[in-house]
Amino acid sequence: MKIYDVAVIGGGASGIMAAITAAKHKKKVILLEKNCSLGRKILITGNGRCNITNNAPIEKFIRVFGKHGKFLKPSFFLFDNHDLIVFFKKKGLQFRTEEKGCIFPITDKASSILKVLKIYLLENKVDVNYNAKLINIEMRKNNFRLILENNNYINSERIIMATGGISYKKTGSTGDGYRILKKLKHTIQPLKSAIVPLKVNEQWVKNLKGLSVKGVKVVFNKDGKNTRSDLGDILFTHYGISGPLVLDLSKDVISCLQSQKKLKIFIDLKPEFKTEELEKILIHEFNIKGAWNLKNILKLFLSNRLVESILSLLEITFDRKGNQISLKERRKIISLIKGLPLTVIGALPIENAMITDGGVSIDEINPRSLESKIITGLYFAGEIIDGCGPCGGFNLQQAFSTGYLAGENAGLG
Ligand SMILES: Cc1cc2nc3c(=O)[nH]c(=O)nc-3n(C[C@H](O)[C@H](O)[C@H](O)COP(=O)(O)OP(=O)(O)OC[C@H]3O[C@@H](n4cnc5c(N)ncnc54)[C@H](O)[C@@H]3O)c2cc1C
Repeated sequence: MKIYDVAVIGGGASGIMAAITAAKHKKKVILLEKNCSLGRKILITGNGRCNITNNAPIEKFIRVFGKHGKFLKPSFFLFDNHDLIVFFKKKGLQFRTEEKGCIFPITDKASSILKVLKIYLLENKVDVNYNAKLINIEMRKNNFRLILENNNYINSERIIMATGGISYKKTGSTGDGYRILKKLKHTIQPLKSAIVPLKVNEQWVKNLKGLSVKGVKVVFNKDGKNTRSDLGDILFTHYGISGPLVLDLSKDVISCLQSQKKLKIFIDLKPEFKTEELEKILIHEFNIKGAWNLKNILKLFLSNRLVESILSLLEITFDRKGNQISLKERRKIISLIKGLPLTVIGALPIENAMITDGGVSIDEINPRSLESKIITGLYFAGEIIDGCGPCGGFNLQQAFSTGYLAGENAGLG
């Protein structure tokens, strides 16, 4: 039976990159994917547009991964955001940088990324096995035996585990890798949601479902103290709030909720104006449009749906005229526009998280090669490794960089 030099388990961003890189060393490489197609998660990234990386300096990539940043340093240094872009540009794909340094393919299609990856797999003669679900790894004298669900098996000298996390299970990441690695005595750090929408107590948000508000400021308040704030876009949902700004806060929110902290979020709908400036503007509008309904005056500043929610919170009838609004009511309106309060009661389950925090302990992986410190010849790449970054293309870069480093070392081994 054919013995492969390298078997890569998982045909996501990290596994595909690992397979291509190992194969460049003229090694016999097989990529095992349990789905009937590759890169299902890639296709849904960035709302189908794929925010592939970020134009931040490498130091920021290391910083945003927190205590895991140091471990990822060799991966990011060997294959950084520029290398990744060049890799795709070589096959004719161009990119555009958007807000906060987020980089997208110019086609606005995640499928363009997958298309290029498939070209590289073909060029480097990687054998791709579909519907090949790994269920166990047996260690033999000189190699590994990979036991597949369909009673088949494959022998390989080295293995790269790239089976992802446990969110968006429909894409194939169902945590198989963790179960298999536990049996091989690897420690799996507790799996938690990261980058996940938040649930709030206020029922009125349901009326705003689907409304996206750009350029707001979100202030995160823990036990009565404002601890973090950021500018960006939010999306109201039937259970609470989502959007890049909220998703980035979610990791902190989850750990606070676990430690029983009381969490509020205040949304400043007009961060471009100071409170006094907004008050002056409103006084002016109330004066010159005094005969207008309050609702129509507020619609000059805010979307119709937001105005309705604010008025219902104020318990002011929609037909009150601008010149009938008292000072107290005006101040209340301003305080809601500058700090719409929401009480955070939880996050959506891990299935709805964009990334799984936790995974194979980095204490058991050599950061310079991504080889297991417990089992020689076993490597790791991508989300399966403990830790995660924020929104902005950092997680896909982690998948590609670790895939490259693991592929390079397994390919040279
Ligand atoms: C909705 C959504 C949007 C996102 N958007 C972005 C974004 O715009 N930018 C960004 O940087 N990150 C984004 N992410 C995160 C990013 O997608 C992941 O960090 C990245 O895809 C992880 O790649 P991976 O290869 O490690 O794992 P995965 O992509 O999960 O790949 C794992 C592969 O392993 C296969 N597999 C699992 N078990 C087995 C088995 N037993 N046998 C064989 N094969 C197996 C799976 O089928 C799967 O194909 C997003 C995530 C989600 C869910």
